[in-house]
Amino acid sequence: MIELLLDEQKDKYNEFCSFAESNVQPYASDWEREERISKDIVNKCIEQGYLGCTIPEEFNGNGWDSITYGIFTEAIARSSTSLAGLFNVHTMVMQTLLKWGTEEQKNKWLYRMCKGEILGAFALTEPDAGSDIRGIKTRFTPKGDKIILNGKKRWITFGGLADIFVVFGMMDDESGKPVACFVEKNTPGFEIIPITNMLGFKASYLAVLEFNECEVDKENIIAKPGFAFSHIAPYALDYGRVSVSFTALGIIGGCLNYCCNHVLRRKTFNSRLIDQSTIKEMITKMGVDYEAASHLCINSCKAKDMSNPNYAEKVMIAKYFTTRAAHRHADNAVQIMGATGCNENHATARYYRDSKVLEIIEGSTQIHEMILGNSFTKKFRKIEKK
Ligand SMILES: Cc1cc2nc3c(=O)[nH]c(=O)nc-3n(C[C@H](O)[C@H](O)[C@H](O)COP(=O)(O)OP(=O)(O)OC[C@H]3O[C@@H](n4cnc5c(N)ncnc54)[C@H](O)[C@@H]3O)c2cc1C
Repeated sequence: MIELLLDEQKDKYNEFCSFAESNVQPYASDWEREERISKDIVNKCIEQGYLGCTIPEEFNGNGWDSITYGIFTEAIARSSTSLAGLFNVHTMVMQTLLKWGTEEQKNKWLYRMCKGEILGAFALTEPDAGSDIRGIKTRFTPKGDKIILNGKKRWITFGGLADIFVVFGMMDDESGKPVACFVEKNTPGFEIIPITNMLGFKASYLAVLEFNECEVDKENIIAKPGFAFSHIAPYALDYGRVSVSFTALGIIGGCLNYCCNHVLRRKTFNSRLIDQSTIKEMITKMGVDYEAASHLCINSCKAKDMSNPNYAEKVMIAKYFTTRAAHRHADNAVQIMGATGCNENHATARYYRDSKVLEIIEGSTQIHEMILGNSFTKKFRKIEKK
């Protein structure tokens, strides 16, 4: 990947890798066991000024382009997918504020989010609606200058640590339109219940959110009712998919590092593992997919930053390819490491668990096939006619 970067991006990537090697990698398996990243690492990220990510400097942000955000995620995910998940959802909320927020909403939350004084989480999924978001049941009932929320969200990343939530629901009026609003943590009628025992992303404070006659100001509504599914969610999810693609890329890169060291050292039947053709094949496929995925990830970010009309599809292609490849190679990495890779404390065991989750979040593999399959059919049928 590094050879695809500009000099300034290479310097940034080296900085991110050395930050992760010193501050993340030594502690990541403890966090997974304890099912929570430490507050210390959040504070260190704040000290480094990383929380402002892709937000322009005028709002206290870092002004990173998508590639810089991506390579930051890649470097962090090699050591902790859970920590990468914090930046994923925090960025989705900040981008929602930047794109759709009013001046008052930005003044209230965006500057403080960039400094890391408050953290964000993104609440779309419900117990009865995941891939098919049109099935969400959370009700937003207008009452004077307030909105009353009733409903339940589930699997919300960093729900247990966040201060401000983007919450999606349906207007409980004659319009019945989909709607989104900002909800602060300590709002009466809002309860946060931790979820434990996940397969992967174990340290990412997953939570159920319950809204029971929860009263928020009408001015917390984002954009206007009717925009939630067509504009607000897709815009944020594009950032989510960039993050997930680079997380998967970091996993493939990590698999390569651990496996290459191991196959050069480990001997069986008087020869090194690398001298076995079956092992060479696994390493070759890992290296080739890392290269291919690097191009897809970087190109999708370039398209996004240049507002290419097809950028969202390119981001989906990168997400689809890289997450599936990450799970294949994490499987092979555990195979290559043998029993060592079966120990929870080894990075390849975590890669194996986390890579499965990447195929489910930010649009599952099957949902990508539904959308991309239709799009490719239209596109290539046109070419055939010419
Ligand atoms: C670790 C983790 C973190 C998460 N973080 C968040 C978060 O921060 N915020 C949030 O809102 N949500 C979050 N989610 C929820 C996630 O977005 C959903 O799990 C995802 O959208 C899939 O929904 P579901 O689990 O309800 O599965 P379902 O939608 O019930 O799907 C079940 C299976 O059926 C497949 N499927 C569904 N429809 C079709 C179809 N038409 N054709 C073929 N196959 C189909 C799916 O691909 C999947 O394999 C998180 C989930 C996990 C595991």
